[in-house]
Amino acid sequence: MADIINLLPDNIANQIAAGEVIQRPASAVKELLENAVDAGATEIQLIIRDAGKELVQVIDNGSGMSGTDARMCFERHATSKIRSIDDLFQIRTMGFRGEALASIAAVAQVELKSKRQDDELGTFIEIDNSVIRRQEPCQAPVGTSIAMKNLFFNVPARRNFLKSNAAEMRHIVDEFIRVALAFPHLQFSLNSNGQQMFHFEKGSLKQRIVSILGQHYNSKLVTVKESTDYMNIHGFVGKPETAKKTRGDQFFFVNNRFIKSSYLNHAVMNAFAETIPSDSYPLYVLFIDLDPAHVDINVHPTKQEIKFDDERILYAFVQSAIKHALAQFSVTPALDFDLDPGIQQLDALTQPFTEEKKAQSAGTSIYKTFTSANQAHVIDKTANSNLQHWKELYGPAPARDNDFPLPPPSDFPAAPTSTASVIDERWQEAAHDQKGPVQVHQQYILSQIKSGFILVDQRSAHERILYERYLRALAEKPIATQQSLFPQTLELLPADAIIVHEMLPDLQALGYDLEPFGQHTFVVRGTPADIQSGNEQASIEGLLEQFKHFSTELKHNRRERLVRSMARNNAIPSGKPLTSREMQNIIDELFACSMPNVSPGGRGTFISFKLNDLEKMFDRGF
Ligand code: ADP
Ligand code: MG
Repeated sequence: MADIINLLPDNIANQIAAGEVIQRPASAVKELLENAVDAGATEIQLIIRDAGKELVQVIDNGSGMSGTDARMCFERHATSKIRSIDDLFQIRTMGFRGEALASIAAVAQVELKSKRQDDELGTFIEIDNSVIRRQEPCQAPVGTSIAMKNLFFNVPARRNFLKSNAAEMRHIVDEFIRVALAFPHLQFSLNSNGQQMFHFEKGSLKQRIVSILGQHYNSKLVTVKESTDYMNIHGFVGKPETAKKTRGDQFFFVNNRFIKSSYLNHAVMNAFAETIPSDSYPLYVLFIDLDPAHVDINVHPTKQEIKFDDERILYAFVQSAIKHALAQFSVTPALDFDLDPGIQQLDALTQPFTEEKKAQSAGTSIYKTFTSANQAHVIDKTANSNLQHWKELYGPAPARDNDFPLPPPSDFPAAPTSTASVIDERWQEAAHDQKGPVQVHQQYILSQIKSGFILVDQRSAHERILYERYLRALAEKPIATQQSLFPQTLELLPADAIIVHEMLPDLQALGYDLEPFGQHTFVVRGTPADIQSGNEQASIEGLLEQFKHFSTELKHNRRERLVRSMARNNAIPSGKPLTSREMQNIIDELFACSMPNVSPGGRGTFISFKLNDLEKMFDRGF
């Protein structure tokens, strides 16, 4: 019998290998952006056509390449970032395998232009199917431009596997956002089909987060920052009230590399546990830095999982850093008018802060750990005693320990089932009361009940009411549409148009009558009956605002997102004067809700003040 083993020709071997690195246009986006960052660029442009199927181009003002390097960089295992196996454990660059450009060149047509600062002329190279077609000197600005055209032109089977433009574009935006978040001190822009979708100026992490996730986060971010000899964490978490029913705005970076870790996510969720409803997800953008020697980054580049030496330490560290951050934010209530009402009524705040109490809280373990000059942070992996200390940090606190001043306030039980009876009772009381409600500062509604009074936040309460109404509309009975006398056209950014297209059926059920009209344009023929006419455009744009950040889970949760966005948009704002009748309606409808105690975003909707407690407060002279 003849021998049967063949060696594959280079270009086929390359194509197969490329399949692991370049799965879709977004993979190229990630690799090219990371190369630009590695090259020390400060301004990076991403240009996309046809969701990357036709073109993915990255232009940077980084180091540039020599003529030889420009040719070399397309070879497999060509990298300037490591020289020996030992370097692998000290990686600080994003790339190091020397695979990306080789892979891209194997499955697309590539044009490269690059020039170094001190070179007179730059280099132009054209390559496709791993074969260099042209190389010549050229005029070029300092830096590098790499254009990947017609991805998978030579592997039609893989081209057919690409998803719709909307789906591929969403992956691209995800990758873009991750890199932009990791490097806020660099300028990034994204242009798709000739339209600018994003432009981020250089700035602080906070500015970057706000420009990506929305201006409304500006006053809603809590700083997280802890340093130890073993690792550091910095970044932001959203205040509990910004938690959403959908995942999405959750970002972990280890040594500036975006990772997905359900384990670390769990640590964050745990730290938030008692401050938000159990089915909501807090925003976080967290950067963990540790010695590369403790991380195994030799996992595959396209995998976002990562292995750590000791995950438990990391878990404890992340959890306690966030608890600490949350505790600090809630401990300075007097200065913070934005404070969640759920927190304001905690014992810690409603009771006088005596010297005795001060001493007590200064003695708690978390307080000590984070204030005693970093001593407690030193984690020597060989010293078990320190590990025990960490356990103590994240183990359950003793009952009377006031470590973490955000227990579930007794009036805000977390589980909806357990609230029902309490709420019912309270509502019975309210209903039987004669006195009408009173508006306070055009923001709260004060309503007397038998055992005291409740203070309702008009906005949060109305948001809850609308949220449940809209959910019902999607599940059972669509909301009536009010046809507009003068249909308006609504011109949207391409990315926004994608979203609206996907949501059309749900929007219909919620009372919007929209009709696609050209690529990025819609005609608004009608709006939900309860929206004032004339506000059509603002109302849809407001909705979209919530969708500006894409996530891979967006699809599953888009209804939920839609409903929450609508509720938020259409809720009665603070500052609006209300008639007695309107106030009574809000109270009636609120207590008819299935979960009246929190807004969809996890904000409290009302606080109750009991006569007994008021008595006690007066007795204490508070
Ligand atoms: P890696 O990033 O893993 O080293 P790549 O295939 O992504 O591998 O890139 C190969 C090499 O090409 C890099 O190590 C770098 O020297 C060079 N290179 C790639 N992109 C750029 C760029 N935008 N500017 C300067 N040099 C670059
Ligand atoms: Mg690279």
